[in-house]
Amino acid sequence: MHIPHSLAQIQSASLPETTDVAIIGSGITGTSVAKFLLEGRPDTHVTILEARTLCSGATGRNGGHLVTFGGAGYSALKAQHGADEAAKILKFAQDTCDQLLETAKEMARDESEIRPVTRVRAFGDAESLEEVKRSVAAYELDHPAMRGRFEFIDGKQALEVQRFGNHHVAGAALFPAAALWPYRFVLKVIEHLRNIYSARLSIEANTPVTDVQYLPDLRVSHPYALRTPRGNIYARQVVYCTNGYTSHLLPELRGRLFPKRATMTVQDLIGLAPNRGDSTSWNLHQKARYDPNIDAILNGSYYLQQNANSGFFFFGGEAQIAHTALTSDDTNASAVSVQHLVDKLSEFFGIEHENNDALVSSWSGIMGFTPDSLPLAGKLPSSITLRDGDGEWIAAGFNGGGMCLCWRVGEAIAKQITVETCPIGFLRPSLCPRCA
Ligand SMILES: Cc1cc2nc3c(=O)[nH]c(=O)nc-3n(C[C@H](O)[C@H](O)[C@H](O)COP(=O)(O)OP(=O)(O)OC[C@H]3O[C@@H](n4cnc5c(N)ncnc54)[C@H](O)[C@@H]3O)c2cc1C
Repeated sequence: MHIPHSLAQIQSASLPETTDVAIIGSGITGTSVAKFLLEGRPDTHVTILEARTLCSGATGRNGGHLVTFGGAGYSALKAQHGADEAAKILKFAQDTCDQLLETAKEMARDESEIRPVTRVRAFGDAESLEEVKRSVAAYELDHPAMRGRFEFIDGKQALEVQRFGNHHVAGAALFPAAALWPYRFVLKVIEHLRNIYSARLSIEANTPVTDVQYLPDLRVSHPYALRTPRGNIYARQVVYCTNGYTSHLLPELRGRLFPKRATMTVQDLIGLAPNRGDSTSWNLHQKARYDPNIDAILNGSYYLQQNANSGFFFFGGEAQIAHTALTSDDTNASAVSVQHLVDKLSEFFGIEHENNDALVSSWSGIMGFTPDSLPLAGKLPSSITLRDGDGEWIAAGFNGGGMCLCWRVGEAIAKQITVETCPIGFLRPSLCPRCA
């Protein structure tokens, strides 16, 4: 969110009394729902309600990696959902990446700094590497059309070609991905929507929704009352794009969708490591472990991209214990986790330097986790809302990744609302009455 956009605090002089669709949350998901609703139905009025400044949740704080789980996630998905469903989920994610890459090029090429990159996903141990190789092989065997996206290199090649420092990685998978600046992309899209659809779009920053009620006797046409500190707004339909914060408004989701805090740093190793930000992004997977010296669980998953202009490294990963990770408070970051990332980046490249000189900034963000790692997307049943009425929708729970899903999940929700069909398909058919 560095350099806040001029629209970051935007709100109407007074909250609109009614709207057709109230979207709660202005991250990448809420913005996608708004875009496709406005484009899809010329008679629909849309209101985006955001608790803080625009796009100040996970999207404004994330690592900027546009990447799918690809064949690496196939075996686990197949075990849970079967080969066909697993392939559909992976295709959905890949299509989302492709579509978002094109949309970002078209709508915000300069602002978003969108660029295709080669992803180098390295593994610290041979066992994890072999597991991923097996998963990719199974994917390619079951779905031959997907062959050829992954290339594997061994640890020596990874060290030579990709300069993985002293990590002694067992090997790496190379595959196509992209990198971008998500906050700037989302704000550019919102700016664009505001310019085109000003008569049908209200954007209400600093307007937390504190409660949703179904009151058909009060307003037949707009039965949902959304309470905010600026007054109530009445809507025909409500879409929860609130990711890790959702269970605050939908308590039945507690435990099924929960917040988890993640840590990001920006570090400056200029002069010590080359700038390959326009061609490469990196992942490193090591086995999760508890480190008694810093009393933290290292989750062993690190993600790294480099800003192609400044050369700064955007480096994320976790060294936290439960009480600092399982929280929805992103006003500060775990000092242990930040220090761990500072130490880890120099180790990553095998560089010795005065560590603390490198840290440019650090922050945390709140992800929305689900027990099976898939998002909740579709119409909410009364068993979850505990209300009558069938106008409440959800697109949340994108776990550690998300940008390879959020954009088209948002599109799917918008299309369901406007044309009442499932042109794209949902990841969670059980929540979509028309797919069930
Ligand atoms: C540190 C970090 C790094 C990450 N790195 C990556 C990455 O590199 N690649 C990737 O694909 N994914 C990454 N993710 C995950 C990704 O950012 C999320 O999956 C994605 O941004 C979710 O978008 P969203 O719009 O659904 O949610 P969010 O962006 O979290 O938006 C939800 C919005 O809802 C608002 N809100 C919540 N409750 C209310 C309320 N009651 N009233 C009004 N507004 C409300 C919040 O303020 C917030 O702005 C990362 C996440 C974090 C935290």
